[in-house]
Amino acid sequence: MMQGLNITKSSENYMGEIYRCCDNPQIVYLAPVNINIDERTIGSVDVWRCAVCKKKFCEEKQLGIDSITDTVGMPRIEDDEKWGVVVSKLQKGKDKWKLVKLKQNGIIKYETADEKILDLKIEDYNIVDDYHTSFLVEDHLNRAVEI
Ligand SMILES: [Zn+2]
Repeated sequence: MMQGLNITKSSENYMGEIYRCCDNPQIVYLAPVNINIDERTIGSVDVWRCAVCKKKFCEEKQLGIDSITDTVGMPRIEDDEKWGVVVSKLQKGKDKWKLVKLKQNGIIKYETADEKILDLKIEDYNIVDDYHTSFLVEDHLNRAVEI
């Protein structure tokens, strides 16, 4: 996986010109969701929200790494998608989870830690698979989720 350049994001980047959720975006920090393994926090999802249109934006943070995303500005999410975390039963540690965008139903192309692309089935914003589970970020704001 490309690690990008570890671009340090300032609040100005979040108001960036690349993607605007509405005419007058006012992006404010909403809450974190911590990701725990054996009661130890290994990472988190930072959740931001536009005060005007209420759209949510999420950023994946692995413990000890400033930023692993290679996009500048708010990551785009479509109206029919929700932010979710995929949990793999096949992986350990930081490779066990990943921030994704889930549609209500269908198939998600999921890239594993060893760069294989899997087709995972989604039913009602949940991944239905023998080796993967998921949860919605919005259901766990300000909480820790044990994976
Ligand atoms: Zn907005």
